[in-house]
Amino acid sequence: RAKSEGRGTYRFFEAKMGAQVRERRLLEHDLRHAVARGEMHLVYQPQTDVRNGSVTGFEVLLRWLHPERGAISPAVFIPIAEESGVILQIGEWVLREACREAATWTNPLTVAVNVSAVQIHAPHFVQLVHESLFRTGLKPDRLEVEITETALIRDPSRAQSTLRQLKALGVRIAMDDFGTGYSSVSNLRAYPFDKIKIDGSFIRSVDANEQTAAIVRSVLGLGRGLGLPVLAEGVETDAELRFLAAEDCQAAQGYLMGRPAAIEQFARFTHGNQLKP
Ligand code: C2E
Ligand code: MG
Ligand code: MG
Ligand code: MG
Repeated sequence: RAKSEGRGTYRFFEAKMGAQVRERRLLEHDLRHAVARGEMHLVYQPQTDVRNGSVTGFEVLLRWLHPERGAISPAVFIPIAEESGVILQIGEWVLREACREAATWTNPLTVAVNVSAVQIHAPHFVQLVHESLFRTGLKPDRLEVEITETALIRDPSRAQSTLRQLKALGVRIAMDDFGTGYSSVSNLRAYPFDKIKIDGSFIRSVDANEQTAAIVRSVLGLGRGLGLPVLAEGVETDAELRFLAAEDCQAAQGYLMGRPAAIEQFARFTHGNQLKP
């Protein structure tokens, strides 16, 4: 009896796995047409100067509104897009769209675009960045590319050469999600980063947890020593922001200063003279 029950459980497990695989294939299929069908759009989240609270730029975050399933999180669809290679097509659209948008701003704020491992290792990535800047007229130093450390490990020497070429164009490079994944401090020396973004998981309750505080302080010290500005991601409370200000963290981003939203919501920063949220 136990044996047959076991088999039943196994069959159930198999069926569930099958459903997950099918679900993934369906999403992958839909992803291939999502840009052309106008299902993708970009939202923008302000990045601020901790010292005076002014908005210095925006991170671009991709949103997919599926016609039947509604909003699907990038945490779900980006990995599928990466594995299937569709990220190349989608990433190209994101980059062009973000540069086109930023070029219309009367205030010279920066625009930060997330770039995945597949894009970094693709043959024409640098050319694509160059083209996006050239076509839109966006000044290279207004574009920041956000890359996680995990994106570099596939082919480190190739990634290194790509980042150097981007830097030669005048584009800035930020290390995203610092402290998570395959973090190695040596990456900060091996690659030409201009900024460190501390992952939001370290900012949560940084004001209340001594261990977390010690980690964040040490990253800030590392940034100071290397001459790299540090941005704290995921700032949600006044207490977290006060801690960061007291520790001389340069930049912050999070729901406290502003949730990701349509760029029209931020016209007072992009076109007006009010640079504080
Ligand atoms: P990320 O680049 O580290 O982006 C930060 C994520 O934290 C965003 O989630 C943002 O909405 C969220 N966030 C911002 N402030 C707060 C806060 O105060 N509290 C909390 N709890 N969360 C906050 P989102 O938009 O869901 O994006 C998730 C990830 O998907 C991004 O992480 C990035 O790795 C990836 N992603 C998003 N857009 C793109 C894109 O255009 N291309 C690529 N390759 N990846 C993207
Ligand atoms: Mg990012
Ligand atoms: Mg991040
Ligand atoms: Mg992330």
